[in-house]
Amino acid sequence: MTEIVDLRSDTLTRPSPAMREVIASAEVGDDVFDEDPTINKLQEKVVALTGMEAALFVPSGTMANQLAIRCQTQIGDEVLLDDCGHVMNYEAGAIAAISAVIPRQIHATNGFITAGQVVSNVRCEDDHHAPLSLVVLENTHNMAGGTVFPLSEMQAIREVTAQRAIAVHIDGARIFNASVAAGVPLTEYARCCDTLSFCFSKGLGAPVGSMLVGSAETIGLARRMRKMLGGGMRQSGLLAAAAIYALDHNVKRLADDHRHARELAAAIDRTKHFSLLSGPPETNIVFMCIKDSDAADAVCEKLADYGVLAFSTKPDRIRFVFHLDINDDQAAQTVRAIEQLDQIY
Ligand SMILES: *Cc1c(COP(=O)(O)O)cnc(C)c1O
Repeated sequence: MTEIVDLRSDTLTRPSPAMREVIASAEVGDDVFDEDPTINKLQEKVVALTGMEAALFVPSGTMANQLAIRCQTQIGDEVLLDDCGHVMNYEAGAIAAISAVIPRQIHATNGFITAGQVVSNVRCEDDHHAPLSLVVLENTHNMAGGTVFPLSEMQAIREVTAQRAIAVHIDGARIFNASVAAGVPLTEYARCCDTLSFCFSKGLGAPVGSMLVGSAETIGLARRMRKMLGGGMRQSGLLAAAAIYALDHNVKRLADDHRHARELAAAIDRTKHFSLLSGPPETNIVFMCIKDSDAADAVCEKLADYGVLAFSTKPDRIRFVFHLDINDDQAAQTVRAIEQLDQIY
C-alpha cells in the first residue's frame, strides 16, 4: 500500500488531535466587541514575539497584506514590489481593486529587491509622478523556492526607505521558516519594516488565520478596514487557540521540513532527467525542472502513481512543499518515487 504524500502546499496541514483539544476548550467572546480573551492573548503574544506595538488577527494572509497596503497608501500612489511575488500574482488583483495604487513591478533575483533597486525607482518630486509610498518584500519567497531574504539587505532597504519616508511591508507568510532557517529572531525582521504579515494556516499547522503586525496607529486603522472588508469575526478565539498552540509547538520543528526538502533536492540532483531550479533549498520548498522537456504535468501524473502529489507551476517545473503532516517515512517515499521515475523516464 502506498501512502499518499501530499506536497502540493503547506496549507494542506490538518489540525492535530492536541490542537483540536485546545480549540474545543478555548475561552471565547465577541472579537468585534474586542471581548474575545483568546484573540487578545494571541495578539499580545505576537506583539511580544515581534517587538511591534500591535497585532491584528485576520482570516487570511491575503487580507493581512491588503490591509497593510490599504492602510499605508493613498489612492494613486505607487507601491514597489517584485514581479513574481504573492501580492502581485496571487491575490486576485486586490492591490488595484482595494487600494487603487500602481504596482511598480521590479524583477528581482531570487525574489529579493535590493536597496539599490529601491533607490533607483524613487523618482524626484514632481507633479508628473505618482509618489512611491510603500515597498513590499516577501520572506521567504514562495516562487523563488522558499528563499530567505538576506537580513543585511533588508536592513539596507529599511535605511533608504526611512530617509525618504517610504513605508515597508514584509509579506512574511512563511516568516517562521525564514527565522528558523537563518537563526534570525522575528524581532530582527520586524525592525526592518512598518508592517509584517504571517500565516498560521501554512507550515504552523493551524486551520485558519493570519496576523498583521505594526504600529498601534496602523493596526487601529487596519481593524476598521478589516470590518469594512467583512473580516470582523465573532468567537474567533477558537481559531486563536489553534494559532497559540501552533506558536508553542510547531515552530522549531519547521527545521524537519527543511531537512526533508534538502533530502529531496539532493535526490533530484542525482537524477539524469531532472534538475533543481536553483541551489539546495533553504527552507521547505523545492522546485524541480524537467530537463529538455515541457512534461511537468505528465511527470506529476506519474508521481501520483507513486502516491506523491505535487503541482506544476510552469510547463517544465514542479513545486514540492514540505510541512508538518509529512514524516520521515513519507519524505523517504518521495525520494524513492523520484529515483524510480528517473529510471523509467
Ligand atoms: C500563502 C501566501 C499568502 C497568503 O495566502 P492566503 O491563502 O490568503 O492565506 C501570502 N503571501 C505568500 C508569499 C504566501 O505564500
